Formats: sequence, structure tokens, C-alpha cells
Amino acid sequence: MKKRIAIIDKNKCHPQECGNYLCMKLCPVNRMGGDCITEGEIDKKAKIDEVLCTGCGICPTRCPYGAIQIINLPGTLTKSPVHRYGENMFELYSLPTPLFGKVTGILGKNGIGKSTAMKVMANILTPNLGDWKKDTDFKEVINYFKGTETQKFMEKLGKNEINLSYKPQQVDLIPKQFDGTVRELLTKVDAKNKLEEMAEKLELTNFLETHISKVSGGELQRVAIAACVLKEANLFLFDEPTSYLDIKQRINISKFIASLAKEDTSTIVIEHDLIILDYMTDLLNIMYGHEGAFGIVSGVKSTREGINSFLEGFLKEENVRFRPRAIKFETFKDVSTAIPVPLISWKNLSLTLGNFKFRTEEGTLNKGEVIGILGENGIGKTTFIKLLAGVHKLDSGELDSEVKVAYKPQYLDTESETLVAEYIHEAIAKYSAQLVNHLDLEKLFTQKLCDLSGGELQRVSIAKCLAEDAELFLLDEPSAYLDIEQRLAVSKLIKNVAAERDITILIVDHDLMFLDNLSHKLAVFTGVPAKEGLLRGPFSMEDGMNLFLKELGITLRRDVTSNRPRINKPHSVKDREQKSNGNWYYS
Ligand code: ADP
Ligand code: ADP
Ligand code: MG
Repeated sequence: MKKRIAIIDKNKCHPQECGNYLCMKLCPVNRMGGDCITEGEIDKKAKIDEVLCTGCGICPTRCPYGAIQIINLPGTLTKSPVHRYGENMFELYSLPTPLFGKVTGILGKNGIGKSTAMKVMANILTPNLGDWKKDTDFKEVINYFKGTETQKFMEKLGKNEINLSYKPQQVDLIPKQFDGTVRELLTKVDAKNKLEEMAEKLELTNFLETHISKVSGGELQRVAIAACVLKEANLFLFDEPTSYLDIKQRINISKFIASLAKEDTSTIVIEHDLIILDYMTDLLNIMYGHEGAFGIVSGVKSTREGINSFLEGFLKEENVRFRPRAIKFETFKDVSTAIPVPLISWKNLSLTLGNFKFRTEEGTLNKGEVIGILGENGIGKTTFIKLLAGVHKLDSGELDSEVKVAYKPQYLDTESETLVAEYIHEAIAKYSAQLVNHLDLEKLFTQKLCDLSGGELQRVSIAKCLAEDAELFLLDEPSAYLDIEQRLAVSKLIKNVAAERDITILIVDHDLMFLDNLSHKLAVFTGVPAKEGLLRGPFSMEDGMNLFLKELGITLRRDVTSNRPRINKPHSVKDREQKSNGNWYYS
């Protein structure tokens, strides 16, 4: 077995611009006359021989574009990978096992191979067992998994005995692949004649006749889920089914996906919203390794145990520590004794935009505060911000002073050719330590915005917004596309920035755990999307959550081991108890 792998990001390797293969010139093996680093035959990019590489560490640190990673493999790996994309590319080492009658989750950071594993199971990617140069014989694949549960699965997959249906991660690609209305798209896959029923359940009825290019992200997500379940299948695969959805929709989708689990059906879900993952799955596979380099799938665990070991960073059964530190949730109490300094106050605002009516109660935002905002899509969050910034004029109400605002929108521009370093030059000049280091952005400087992954673009956009010269910042769904570790890192950053610079930050987000983790206070929207929205608060966390959860009809408790929030099973003892005490939030 090889000891280490070399990963080269071809997008970042510019051999002509670094001084003609700088890595080759510096490599001790090459200097001794060996051929450790050579010129790629076709693409002329650097190529590293993993057997000759001694792991000296010179090329990854000296490459000016950060294109090289040399990663030591754990000694416990005794087999070749299940799949490798190509020379000096990502390797996947094992697969999750689908279990019938259950919903199984996959949890792990970005770039660890979750989607790759799911594509193998969906028969979209034929595993090459680490040899990307030749076509794989499926018999070899079955042999590779000999004596495991996965063998049986792969045998059935090879014989086309598994009817599977797959919802890909990137729903935004659908409008590029299909031209027609939502109804037309769904009719094509409607094997069971259940279109109307699904449309009802997934709340699609209002836009069935809309052209697919005109629907919003959250609508597209639900269309993709509907298309997936309309197919006749006994294995359902969902890659990140809740992106773009608000909390109400997330809960609805969770219940829906959980209800798919029948004796002869198996469901696998990749999901980063921990409260939702916890709510909708019975079992869990954890993926660990090194992002962008290699990924290993853990054995299957109960969801509760699985999430707790993930947070712990340690897998008991495997005896593997995959993160040096545990992730901890503090029971957060605002202990600040300073007298609050108001930034802006309002009373009984009202505004009509087309068919939409916006109203508020009375409220104040203080300096140095992080305020979470809970509310459905289309309920008036952006409208509120524009009012505070003086973009919209009021119909009536009292608003004392206008403030300078900075805004990170929910939907980011994915087509721009601008370089990251140019786009966030203010963040680099003014807040290099605070923003650039914390969000790990330096290695992205030489890339174009359009080449970034969703999570990378999100971090860049957060840095850009927070570097602006403003008093009030609004981040609309900053957790989208971030994995759980990045979500927690961003929440810590936001709290620090608010405290250190004495600025006010409003966060609209649909990941309850994320909001709970970073907010000092909560404002809550009630009403009917696209019709009327009423803003209430900011309240204390407890009062805000109680108000919001009551509307949703769910109660939250804290897990005794990890302190993380969990949704109580409807009608369970805890659920009934908390509802009757009025403690919808933690009792
Ligand atoms: P996850 O879903 O856990 O975020 P993915 O399975 O999408 O991770 O990707 C794992 C790694 O494999 C990433 O480093 C990604 O860049 C790489 N990768 C994904 N698809 C390809 C491909 N078609 N060719 C080469 N590398 C790929
Ligand atoms: P949110 O930010 O909560 O998703 P918005 O504040 O953007 O919601 O919008 C609330 C509602 O007002 C939506 O139904 C939207 O279509 C409508 N709306 C927003 N701006 C205008 C406008 N300038 N003219 C007419 N309707 C608008
Ligand atoms: Mg993925």
C-alpha cells in the first residue's frame, strides 16, 4: 500500500507562470535525478509520482498557487480505493450501505466525497477501483466488496435489480437541461400517476404552469424532490434536499422523506442542517478523511450516536480520531452588563408593495448586537432592510434615522469572471486577520468567482459584505452551501466581528442550530408569504424561539451528551410536557 497521495488542483497549476515548473526544480527526488515530478503528457500540468514522493513537504508550501497537496494516508487502509477520478485526483475508499425500511444519512465536510459516493450508488459513476486508465469489469467491483453487505448491493446494482431514483445536489442545473413548465417536467417522470398528490404534499400547486426557468431556488428544490419520488423506485437518493428551503419547508420535507421508509424501500440523504438530519434519519454514515484528497465512509450508526461522535471528532467502533478537537455547544447566556447603545428604532411601520403588505410592531437594534431573523421566504425580510436603508419610503409609522447598510443577498452571482483577490480587496486591505484568515480565503485569491464551489463563493461573499464601511449588516442565508464545521466557524466569526467593531448584524437563516448558536436576540416574521408580513421583536432568544416554534408546532430540547438542539418527536412525553409548560424552546 502506498503511504501518501498527491493531489494537484489543475485549475490552480500554471507551470508557465511560476517559473517553469518550480515544483520540479525544488523536488529533492528530481534534483537527485529521479522522476518524481514530471510534465503531464496531455495537459502539461505538473504530475507527481506517489511512490517516489518522500513527503518532504517542499512543493506544497512553495507552489505560488497552492495547487499541490501531499496527504499521508492512514495506516489502517489496506485496500485500493473504490474510485479515483484520475491521476493526482480525489480517491474514495468505501461506500455507505443502504438498508431497507430505513432512512440513512451521510454526514461529513465539503469535498470529502459524499456526492461521489452517492453517484456510485446511483450507478452514474462506475467505480474504477483506483485504476482510472482502464475500463472496470463489474465482476471485479463485486469481488472488491466480497463478504460485505455492499457486495449484495453491488450485485443487484450490476444486474439492474435496483430501481433507484436520485436527486442531485445542484438543482440550479435543471433549467439548463429542461425547457418547459413544471407540470411538463413532472409529467415525464410520473410513473405512478401521482402528480397531483405530490404537488399538494410538496406545495407546488401554485406554480405548476410556470416555466422552469422562472421558479425560485426553493421551488426548484421541491420540484426536484417531487421528480425523484414520482419515479417507481425502491432506493431513493437525496443529495442535499433542503438547500434554499425555509424552516417550515425543511420540516415538511423531512417528514415527507421520513415517510418514504417502508419495508421494501431504502432512502439515503446527504444533509448539513444537523437538526433536520437528526429529525429525518434513523441511521447515519460519517465520512472523514481529507477534503479534496480522500474520503472514507464509517460503519453505520444510530443517528443520535452518529451525530454525537461526529461532533466529538472520534469514531469509537473504528477507533479513529478524525478531528483534533470536539465541537461544543455552549448553553449561551447573554451576560453583557454594558448599557445598550441604540442604532435605530421603529414603531408601527407599514408599507405596501404591489400585493404585499409589510408591517412592524415596535423595535430597536443596538450596536454590537447579532440579531437572528426567522421567517418564511417571501415574508418581507429584504423589504425591511431596504426600509432601514432608506431605499423604500414608508406609507406610515415612525423610523428614527437612516443607517448605512451592507447586504449579502441570498442568491449569489455565480457567473462573474472577477478574481477573488480583486472582489474582496477591501477585506484583504482592512481585515486580513479578522476576515481572510478566519474564512480561509487566501488560497482562493487567484481564482475566478465563477470557478468557486458554492461553499467557497459563500465565504468570499460574507467577507466582502463584512468589509464594507457600514453600521448595519444584513446577511441573507449565510449558511447555504457551508458544511457543519464551516457553519460553526462562520457563526463564531460573526459574533467576534460584531463585538470588536461594535456593529449590528442581522442574520436571516433557515438553519435553526446555526441561528441559535450566533444570535443574541431574535426577530420573528409572521403572516402569509407574498401577501402580508408582520415583523415582531427583536426579543430575547427564549421569547423569540417560543413564538416561532409555537407557530411551527414543534418543540426543541438539548441533547444531554452534546448539548445540541433536537426536535422532539411529535406527541412524545417531552413534546407534550414542553407544550403544556409553554417551553417550546429548551426546558
Ligand atoms: P462532497 O459531496 O462531500 O462535498 P464531492 O464528492 O462532490 O464531495 O467531491 C469530492 C472531491 O472530488 C472534491 O475534491 C472534488 O473536487 C472532486 N471531484 C468531484 N467530481 C470530480 C470529477 N468529475 N473529476 C475530478 N474530481 C472530482
Ligand atoms: P423575503 O426577503 O422575506 O424573502 P421580500 O421582502 O423580498 O421577502 O419580499 C416580500 C414580498 O414582496 C414578495 O412576495 C415579493 O415578491 C414582494 N415584493 C418585493 N419587492 C416588491 C416590489 N418592488 N414590488 C412589488 N412586490 C414586491
Ligand atoms: Mg456534495
